[in-house]
Amino acid sequence: MVRVNEVWPGGSAGPKRRHGRRVTVVGAGIAGLVAAYELEGLGYRVEVLEGNDRVGGRIRTHRFGAGDDAPSVELGAMRIPTRHWRTLGYIDQLGLGDRIRRFTTLLSDENAFIATDGGHTRIRDASDVLCRQFRREAVFARYSDATIAFGAWLTAVVDAIAPPDLRRALRSDLRDQLLDLVEKIDLTSFLHGSARDRVDLHFLFSAHPGLRSACSRRLNSFLDDILTETSPALLRLAGGMDQLPRRLAERLQAKVSCGHKVVGIEVRSDDVLLHVKTDTRTFVRRTDFVVCTVPFPVLRRMWLSGFDADKRAVLNDTVYCPATKVAFHCREPFWLQEGITGGASFSGGRIRQTYYPPAEEAADRGAALLASYTIGEEADWLGRLPAAQRYRVVLKELGVMHPQVLRPGMVLGAASVVWGRSPWTLGGCATRWGKDAAAREQERLRAARPVNRLFFAGEHSASVPAWIEGAIESALHAVRQIAEYEPPRGTAHSRHRKTLGAPR
Ligand SMILES: Cc1cc2nc3c(=O)[nH]c(=O)nc-3n(C[C@H](O)[C@H](O)[C@H](O)COP(=O)(O)OP(=O)(O)OC[C@H]3O[C@@H](n4cnc5c(N)ncnc54)[C@H](O)[C@@H]3O)c2cc1C
Repeated sequence: MVRVNEVWPGGSAGPKRRHGRRVTVVGAGIAGLVAAYELEGLGYRVEVLEGNDRVGGRIRTHRFGAGDDAPSVELGAMRIPTRHWRTLGYIDQLGLGDRIRRFTTLLSDENAFIATDGGHTRIRDASDVLCRQFRREAVFARYSDATIAFGAWLTAVVDAIAPPDLRRALRSDLRDQLLDLVEKIDLTSFLHGSARDRVDLHFLFSAHPGLRSACSRRLNSFLDDILTETSPALLRLAGGMDQLPRRLAERLQAKVSCGHKVVGIEVRSDDVLLHVKTDTRTFVRRTDFVVCTVPFPVLRRMWLSGFDADKRAVLNDTVYCPATKVAFHCREPFWLQEGITGGASFSGGRIRQTYYPPAEEAADRGAALLASYTIGEEADWLGRLPAAQRYRVVLKELGVMHPQVLRPGMVLGAASVVWGRSPWTLGGCATRWGKDAAAREQERLRAARPVNRLFFAGEHSASVPAWIEGAIESALHAVRQIAEYEPPRGTAHSRHRKTLGAPR
């Protein structure tokens, strides 16, 4: 099976089954559920403690109403790059393969909008406006039309997706070196769009990897995400991404105890003590091994004992980028009347991106709209507002691009998640922006390094943070470490020193 090969890359069935050993997994997000599933497969006695009242963590499908035909929207993860084979492997293995559909992404529906200095313009007509706007900066005026088109569209994409500091970084990169390098390339074969007036950024950056050297480190480390998020090679799960964690939880024999918040972790020489709080009681669970998938901003607020100095440091050093999503339940998918069948607009202002989820549900129940998706400062700003005010701000800004949304009775309801303020995350996703590849790997190793019998998983300890794929990769890594665990010899008693293996 795929999963065994991944846990044991050599393709063997792994070491002898460790029947009877108890592993407690903390957190029932995708990392925790995959770890539990695989450990169970290896014969461990597994239980999962989840603080929230649901499984899935940052995979969160919101349904406006009860039942499978209620309009739904993704308030957490929403797309799967086709190269994320681990994620797709589990989808397949869990019998969800027939629900995979293409995900239409930002700026790919030519009828969607893009915010420009002159207001919202249809994407199909935007090239002229964006290029004129770009050329207005005197330093750029000397470049050829094709180079200007490159600069204008890269700026538009980065403006749509990146937080403000990265948007600023791009401008100085373009000025310093990037456009000079692009000017030397014949861009003819990279032009696309109905009028061949857009530059295929994915194709260009992969054909000319040297262009990356002209990007500042901070932008460079975010560029992969930017290119991935605007790539045509993206998929989704019809019926909601939360089917993946829910199906995994159903397949477990292990008990998944929701409403069980871990408030303290005590690492000892031969076991781990978890201090757990429910609505009605507080108790201590002794266990042989723990897989902790709790996001670091939450973990660093817990009472922790037996953690060495470097582990404490990495808990504090790991930086998270806030993210906020605001969705509206609309009476009807009014955007269809404007010819928008999916994808997303760059709405600009403080709401940044607006996604039009495919309306697969019963038409008489209305349609869901992801009115605003923000990260960084804008996510923080929206997140600080009380919910009702947040909805008013989003509605007002959205109404500039889509006046139909302001019609009486058009918005039937709203929902949002401010991930930076969710008590279960206290951040959107881990970021390693501004670090070179070696520094990123070093931080990953520090984050993933176990403390004696306490093992770590979660997107923050993966080589691809901020993706489901990374969370799964980290879970498989932790499972492998547990299965290979041998207690360090002759060190049975130091509570503060013992760790399994230095960073590799
Ligand atoms: C807005 C947004 C959009 C995203 N978009 C995408 C996308 O399109 N595609 C993609 O692949 N990825 C996307 N991601 C990233 C993806 O969602 C995450 O990488 C992945 O879901 C993280 O899984 P995890 O198991 O590491 O963490 P989580 O899902 O956060 O799981 C951690 C679990 O621990 C629980 N927990 C926390 N504290 C405690 C405690 N004290 N006691 C017990 N349990 C506790 C939490 O409730 C949670 O269930 C997005 C993330 C966000 C926030």
